[in-house]
Amino acid sequence: MSISHIEHIGIAVKSLDEAIPYYENVLGLKCYNVEEVKDQKVKTAFFMVGQTKIELLESTDPEGPIGKYIEKKGEGIHHIAFAVTNIEDQLKQIEAQGVRLIDQKPRKGAEGLDIAFLHPKSTLGVLTELCENKNNK
Ligand code: ZN
Repeated sequence: MSISHIEHIGIAVKSLDEAIPYYENVLGLKCYNVEEVKDQKVKTAFFMVGQTKIELLESTDPEGPIGKYIEKKGEGIHHIAFAVTNIEDQLKQIEAQGVRLIDQKPRKGAEGLDIAFLHPKSTLGVLTELCENKNNK
């Protein structure tokens, strides 16, 4: 596996409207994008911190992955996303190393990135996402 940096940290929140003012007014970050990802039943808000983003996730459906997460564990850090290149090859390689994948193949995430999740049972409890930005190529 070859990781260039932490692409983003995903944080589950009950309400973007309540969470964004904390990130903007207290932490002094600027929300530069709000986007719904229908596929994952979430609304996302993004902040840049160096070359890493904070991705706030608000559920749009109690049965969606973030809805269920908040129901079980409450608000908090949900996942960590690493930036990689050749995401398809990376997935094959780590699967061959015995890591269970949630996504066998990359799919489209927020901001047009190709993303795939690894199963937290195989990653010592950290829900892990790989991201590749193919838009810049
Ligand atoms: Zn993410």
